[in-house]
Amino acid sequence: MRAAWPHGESMRATWIETASRHRVAGLLRRSTAPILLALVSLQMAQISSGADAVPIVIAHRGASGYLPEHTLPAKALAYGMGADFIEQDVVLTRDNVPVVLHDVHLDTVTDVATVFPDRKRKDGRYYALDFDLREIKQLSVHERVNEKTGAVVYPRRFPLGPAISLQVPTLAEEIQLIQGMNRSTGKRVGIYPEIKQPKFHREAGHDISTIVLKVLGDHGYRQRRGDCFVQCFDEAETKRLREELGCELPLIQLLGRSNWSSSVGHLNAEEVSRKLKQVAGYADGIGPPTDQLIARVQNRRVVPGPLAVTAKQLGLQIHPYTLRTDDLPSYAATMAELVEICLDDLRVDGLFTDFPDVAIHARDARQRKQGK
Ligand code: CA
Repeated sequence: MRAAWPHGESMRATWIETASRHRVAGLLRRSTAPILLALVSLQMAQISSGADAVPIVIAHRGASGYLPEHTLPAKALAYGMGADFIEQDVVLTRDNVPVVLHDVHLDTVTDVATVFPDRKRKDGRYYALDFDLREIKQLSVHERVNEKTGAVVYPRRFPLGPAISLQVPTLAEEIQLIQGMNRSTGKRVGIYPEIKQPKFHREAGHDISTIVLKVLGDHGYRQRRGDCFVQCFDEAETKRLREELGCELPLIQLLGRSNWSSSVGHLNAEEVSRKLKQVAGYADGIGPPTDQLIARVQNRRVVPGPLAVTAKQLGLQIHPYTLRTDDLPSYAATMAELVEICLDDLRVDGLFTDFPDVAIHARDARQRKQGK
């Protein structure tokens, strides 16, 4: 038996619902002209049609459980596996080109130390921001290794050895890959870019958010059409995206472990509520670690904590990270069980996973069980 949701809602809010609500609110703030009423009606129609939508599966760094993260093959595999959205972590090169890379460093996923041995900083790290795109394109991407020990982080994944050339893609190249497959398959898989470390970039004289929004806009991602979320850990920057840079795309406020909670069950409900209300003022949803949504675990059953409960009350979407078959939490024996916990107990609207095929299979089996 599953834990009961404390507020008895019968319908799951969808991201379309929240996106539309924010859009409508934004329109009404700007003007009350009659034409907008028609737009509001249209938005409301979209709301009702999306009220029982299937939770989305987001391929975290691509199908990164099977191929080195953020390579185009990992993205194509995720696409082929049926992911609804494919994630891009984005950092800048020295010549201001957004590239798809999880860290501002290059050394844990590429052979930069071999190709450019004298280009490390005093801290021993190699920064993407110190290299032009032309140089970054000379690097070969491999499975992630530990920065200190050099050992692979996930030993059962793609081997380190093969001498195949996998490049760091630019954001534009990756979008073109996904849009190209959308054209050839007739599907409409979305993108899910994350703006990485805006403060680090700004201190080095680069405005990453403005540059990323330009690339998104150039590729048709300007308005809410259901095929692009923008995510960021930096709360001030997410707010800036909405309020200063005029970003109309749905925004997901990522929540780190350090600034929101240190461990399961230690969230202060009042503090969570206060902070989430601020987030709801500019974002459409939250992206927390799965554990943060849980108040406690009893015999593999989970009880939603204040973050999950309050986010739902405020109409925020919930897209937790990261579901991995090779790194399951203590309260789930299989990915299928973890997906069920997320969807039925925590009532999330989407999932970040390194294994999109396994998560999709579990989600679809659950949907069938529920007659959807
Ligand atoms: Ca990310």
